[in-house]
Amino acid sequence: MSCSSENPVGSGKCREMLQKILDGDASPEEKREFEHHMLECLPCYQTYELEMAIRALLKSRCNGNGAPPELIEKIKQKIQTIR
Ligand SMILES: [Zn+2]
Repeated sequence: MSCSSENPVGSGKCREMLQKILDGDASPEEKREFEHHMLECLPCYQTYELEMAIRALLKSRCNGNGAPPELIEKIKQKIQTIR
């Protein structure tokens, strides 16, 4: 299963699956399936990595520690890669 060109992230099954994973609603089986899927689907992989980085950033902000500058840099770079 691949969705790189015909089915970019933002539509259809990929987005649904990603959302589930990110929300923590996915079953272990679905997680396994997604991990496998990410290996062949670059948009999914990039979006997943980016979302996780953003979540980490928000979390550290919420703790009142401020985000480490390296993390912000990393996220900026990832956003540029995706665009
Ligand atoms: Zn995908």
